[in-house]
Amino acid sequence: MRKRVIILGSTGSIGRAALDVADALRDRVEIVGLSAHARWRELALQACEFGAKAVAVSDEALLDGLRGGVGPGTRVFAGESALVDLVNDTEADFVLSAIVGAAGLAPTLAAVDRGLDVGLANKESLVVAGSLLMPLARERGSRLIPVDSEHSAIFQCLQAGRENEVRRLCLTASGGPFREWSVERIRDATLADALRHPTWDMGPKITIDSATMMNKALEVIEASLLFDMPAERIDVLIHPESIIHSMVEFVDGSVIAQLGAPDMRTPIQYAMTFPERLPKNGGAPDWARIRRLTLDPPDLGRFPALRLGYEAARIGGNAGAALNAANEAAVERFRSGGVRFGQIVELTQAVFDNHHNIQQPTLEDLLRTDAWAREEVAACLTHS
Ligand code: NAD
Ligand code: MG
Repeated sequence: MRKRVIILGSTGSIGRAALDVADALRDRVEIVGLSAHARWRELALQACEFGAKAVAVSDEALLDGLRGGVGPGTRVFAGESALVDLVNDTEADFVLSAIVGAAGLAPTLAAVDRGLDVGLANKESLVVAGSLLMPLARERGSRLIPVDSEHSAIFQCLQAGRENEVRRLCLTASGGPFREWSVERIRDATLADALRHPTWDMGPKITIDSATMMNKALEVIEASLLFDMPAERIDVLIHPESIIHSMVEFVDGSVIAQLGAPDMRTPIQYAMTFPERLPKNGGAPDWARIRRLTLDPPDLGRFPALRLGYEAARIGGNAGAALNAANEAAVERFRSGGVRFGQIVELTQAVFDNHHNIQQPTLEDLLRTDAWAREEVAACLTHS
């Protein structure tokens, strides 16, 4: 039987790459459900092409358009709870969580609660609610399989040993477009500058997070939760070639790394077909052309966001929710021209430093922290 797959966020960068993977694996993978935020026409076309049984959009006003765009055999969900309904009411084996931001939390929680295997691209849901998602996954028998390239790499490297044989994890980072820029130049970078990622072609939010290095900060928290590893045993190294996707150091000093071309279809396919490793188009990097791989320590002076990730991972509780929401709100402001690039991390830090920590938060606590942090970003700006 083919694996029945739901893709949440199928119109995004990861979503479209996942459909490419599914297209090449039509004998192994069946697309049963798809979701989008606003681009319902593209969603309808995808549903027709892959014969999806159900589709969802988060805006109720798009219901009629979407219904007209899909065949009569496709169920249509629209509105605030549409994505959760899609997950709860569609027979499936695997859910790819590829929505951007904390908006991905509710449907990801629903998938884990159903005991389905989840391919996790939406790192924000884990950063916000890892303290609930991880134990729930264990209780329900849901496997959280990372899609983020670094975490997929670590997940693959971990197959080389036992849990108690791991000494440290090492996340690599491209360094983003401002890797060699001065603090002054970074402060006034434009939106176009921030969107010009040197090695990866991704959605706008994560591309801006890569430019501030908040993306790596979120990834430290993500790794700490996924692999149950204290932050002080997680290193970050700048690796501009984006070929070494991450590494695991074992207790005997052996280091196992996963390497490959920077193409998200590799970790997506690995997660979708795990525990199997299936053939895929495109080979290993062209070593003769690359010749040299470099690794450098990160510069926390120019990229202070990274320190916030370590701090949030160390503090735990609702710290990740505060950090993530403040960053989401600050990035939105930057995209709409309301703040300078340098203010993204300044604002995020100011709000994060002010959050009231709750060590064992409920889901309501986390949602309240998320809403509070977004309001605080707005308040900081009206008072400045
Ligand atoms: P994107 O902006 O290209 O796509 C986002 C998708 O989420 C779209 O389908 C959009 O319709 C949907 N969406 C957005 N807001 C929504 C909302 N409020 N409610 C419901 N759906 C909503 O983003 P992306 O680059 O594909 O990233 C998706 C996730 O994967 C992010 O969490 C990102 O950090 C992670 N990730 C992405 C990459 C990459 O290469 N793009 C790599 C690693 C991790
Ligand atoms: Mg990553």
